[in-house]
Amino acid sequence: MNLLILGSGGRECALAWKLAQSTKLGKLFIAPGNAGTVRYGTNLELNPNDFLQVKKAVLDHDIQMVVVGPEDPLVLGIHDFFLEDKELIKIPVIGPQKLAAQLEGSKEFAKEFMYRHHIPTAKYRSFTLENVDEGLEFLETLTAPYVLKADGLAAGKGVLILNDLQEAKKELDEMLRQQKFGSASSKVVIEEFLDGIEMSSFVLTDSENYVILPNAKDYKRIGEGDTGLNTGGMGAISPVPFADAEFLTKVEERVIIPTVEGLKKDGIPYVGFIFIGLIRVNNEPFVIEYNVRMGDPETEVVIPRIASDLLDLFIATGNKELDEFDLKVDQRAATTVMMVSGGYPEAYEKGKQITGLESVADSIIFHAGTKLSGDKVLSNGGRVLAVTSYGEDFKQALIKSYKNIEKIHFDKMNYRKDIGFDL
Ligand code: AMP
Repeated sequence: MNLLILGSGGRECALAWKLAQSTKLGKLFIAPGNAGTVRYGTNLELNPNDFLQVKKAVLDHDIQMVVVGPEDPLVLGIHDFFLEDKELIKIPVIGPQKLAAQLEGSKEFAKEFMYRHHIPTAKYRSFTLENVDEGLEFLETLTAPYVLKADGLAAGKGVLILNDLQEAKKELDEMLRQQKFGSASSKVVIEEFLDGIEMSSFVLTDSENYVILPNAKDYKRIGEGDTGLNTGGMGAISPVPFADAEFLTKVEERVIIPTVEGLKKDGIPYVGFIFIGLIRVNNEPFVIEYNVRMGDPETEVVIPRIASDLLDLFIATGNKELDEFDLKVDQRAATTVMMVSGGYPEAYEKGKQITGLESVADSIIFHAGTKLSGDKVLSNGGRVLAVTSYGEDFKQALIKSYKNIEKIHFDKMNYRKDIGFDL
């Protein structure tokens, strides 16, 4: 089977690494890919949001399945595009259709879905320009911290958590009246602050059945001790040590099953990953957010812990046979540490030569923002490399990742030295 992965990050590199191990794989293509994905397949220079370019690649290379890495093509309707095209309709797409992608594309859609299906989540109200004054009054009835969320996709920047009421009012005003996040903030969700520890669950569903993938915890802030600006993610571990069997049963019964059943009841087809951002409050799970694709860097620890053949899993998903799939999980822990460009998540320089990759032993390097220039590997983004290791527990795994990071070099590189520090 020839397969196309859309995307270019560490997530897509981890998917390519795993799919390349399948005996059923014919040719693997990654579009646009990076300097790491070329080890597992062929990179195609195209924009995943340009569906006509994707179609051409699928027909030119006789591709029989498409796996969508990032959210943008899903929210823009790539799966619907395939279903509406008679040359593409038979090609399975792993990733939901546009309507379901609203679970990530609209915070209000997600909150309404959770309320409708009694899925535990923070209490909320949403506001637009028309009732901005009510929103300002509503803030006065709450206690700090105040959680303000732009309804639409805002590149991970649309959530504000503020301690000061006046500041919260000012931000709400800017989001609605001045469209601080463009059209993404033409509607704003204000919700109750939940105080707890976060983790993520990952589910693959074929619209009827689901399998639960290994869980993970990521580290979002740039600075040690979880300080400083938010990033795409600086590291992750799997499994999450505090998620014991009792808690995971609650997650499945109160969150995962109602989510999959809720989609069915609402008549929303969903073939693909559901990434559920959870917060544990008094040992109870609450949903913070849904994402309609895998997380990055969580994929770099979740995928290595899947012992089953990933292509078999995707084929079962496409055939709606996940009920018969017996997922095998590697019992070792996995960790990943992100090596990032100096300055990230603010301005940073690209094009720095990366050296030492060949001396890495006992870790897997998933490339994120890299590109090839002749035989040189250059940095090409904020997050550059994910260094993943296995261990008996996450601490043992981290020792390996940190040892290997010392062998790798690029100018102004940065990484967090305290992944897992809070566990
Ligand atoms: P989201 O984009 O909805 O995942 O929000 C981004 C981050 O904001 C989450 O990962 C949480 O750390 C935090 N957050 C969001 N909603 C809440 C909430 N209701 N209570 C506490 N923290 C929250």
